[in-house]
Amino acid sequence: MLVRRGIAVSPGMASGPALVFGTEDFRIPQRFVSVDAIESQIKRFRTALQQTVDEIGENERLANEQVGKQYGSIFTAHLNLVQDPQLLEEIEELIRSKYYSAEFASSRVLRRYAKVFQNLGDNYMAQRAADIYDIEKCLVRNLLGESREELTHINTPVIIVANSLSPSETANLNRKFVLGLAIETGGRTSHTAILAGALEIPAVVGVGNFLADVSGGENLIIDGDRGEIIIDPTDTAVQHFEDTIERRKGVSKRLLSLKEIPAQTKDGVRIKLLGNIEFPEEVSQCIDRGADGVGLYRTEFLYLNRRDEPSEEVHYEAYCRVVGAFPNSPVIIRTMDLGADKMPSALTFGAEPASNPVLSLRSLRLSLKNLPLFKTQLRAILRAATVGDVRIMFPLVSTLMELRQAKMILADVVEDLEEQGVEFKRDVPVGMMVEVPSAVMMAEEFAQEVDFFSIGTNDLIQYTLAADRDDPNVSELYRAADPSILRMIQHVIDVGNRHEISVTVCGEMSTDPLFSPLLIGMGLRQLSVTSHMIPRLKELIGNFTLEEAEEIASHVRNLELARTVENYLRGEMMKFAPDMAVLEAEQA
Ligand code: PEP
Ligand code: MG
Repeated sequence: MLVRRGIAVSPGMASGPALVFGTEDFRIPQRFVSVDAIESQIKRFRTALQQTVDEIGENERLANEQVGKQYGSIFTAHLNLVQDPQLLEEIEELIRSKYYSAEFASSRVLRRYAKVFQNLGDNYMAQRAADIYDIEKCLVRNLLGESREELTHINTPVIIVANSLSPSETANLNRKFVLGLAIETGGRTSHTAILAGALEIPAVVGVGNFLADVSGGENLIIDGDRGEIIIDPTDTAVQHFEDTIERRKGVSKRLLSLKEIPAQTKDGVRIKLLGNIEFPEEVSQCIDRGADGVGLYRTEFLYLNRRDEPSEEVHYEAYCRVVGAFPNSPVIIRTMDLGADKMPSALTFGAEPASNPVLSLRSLRLSLKNLPLFKTQLRAILRAATVGDVRIMFPLVSTLMELRQAKMILADVVEDLEEQGVEFKRDVPVGMMVEVPSAVMMAEEFAQEVDFFSIGTNDLIQYTLAADRDDPNVSELYRAADPSILRMIQHVIDVGNRHEISVTVCGEMSTDPLFSPLLIGMGLRQLSVTSHMIPRLKELIGNFTLEEAEEIASHVRNLELARTVENYLRGEMMKFAPDMAVLEAEQA
């Protein structure tokens, strides 16, 4: 049994066979075979081995011919490895004694060898490990005779183990069969992490290199609350997993009973908890958890993985599904925030590949460059607004000019709809995301031109601290608790209060219970969060008074380091929600 830790990004526990998506283009579907199948597995193995030897031999011949013997010798070394009698004997022995499938046995033995070389430490040996992975890839490919399986075609329950998953790959996962995600890369606020939360698939990201430790079909336990992955668990670990699942079921039941109770502090100050959604279906999760509305509808997921642009009707139907389900509560529809990692594979909207896509043509900038596309979306939003309390939000606003342009386009759309006699709502409140430092600095001016602010801490942190939200190499810098971020949030809240416009935080920071007392103490009365956390946050908020929250905020104002802020908040959380404090501490 092996335990690996990463960042817990989507809660829940699951157990099941691994489906490994590495840099390799194959997956191992089956770990065990029946006793009768042993001889046929050995035969498959020998055939695939011969194909592998032939392939490597051909590569050796070509390399010798075209680039010289010194390069051909790379393949000679591969050939020696793949024909090593001890290695072959070990693989066949595993098939015979453990009833492993040929691919599982091959992968297991070769990965163990590779691991030994890797651990020898020096560069030369690390290269030999890479050679063994190459051989494994070739051998398993020959065994399976197939290329990378489409994630959308998964039809048996699995835990996906991958080096990375793009937001569109994640968005298209089948919830019925994908029990969990364990990803080597990514951070707490990467879009893949956010989507896993939306799909309610337990997920751990940022685990670091561990694909070599897992073979396809191997049993895994994933704990999305603790950020833990157990590879090949012992019977005791499996028993512990089952007991924990039972215990957590009890907790979920208790929390769901809070549905009808409004979120309020111990002394009765009402805090609105809205839900963040990516797909229209999620609205029912928000309602079931007692959300006060939708604070952030990320509409860009309507565009991902389509070959064509969504029509006005596609937009309209999606919005009506959300607004119709929640007719008396605010629904904040954010215009599309495509670009950077969130880009449909078939559409580019004129965004050329950029050396730094996060700082390039994305989000509102892309809408302003594609006016027909932008107008289509705005028309659908204004039409759906007749069904309920819709508000429009523009993402990634960097300058006043951009905001004014966006509002001008909106005014054009209003005029068009009026002229065409289409039913729509005219006075829809217009707000903006505050997620670029320039917007914070200009908050005073922006406040005079919008009806609300929603602080997008996910991007605000990356742009302020110059630390990519997806990159574990800079996760030490990427911290919501950094005093620079807290001061920015405080400034936006103060400006909002002065101008009497509402301020929300909708980045992942607002979902993290560690920050709830602090944000409320800083003056926020509205948070937009991942819906599954609403019951927990309700319970937590009911455990402290406004005065206690304000004391926390005033103490934090004097702290200089993110780590000091986090440690202090963890200590405070011990008073209000000890069980959550334990989870936070484990994650720290
Ligand atoms: C944010 O940046 O905080 C935000 C909510 O937007 P997204 O995560 O979609 O970039
Ligand atoms: Mg953002």
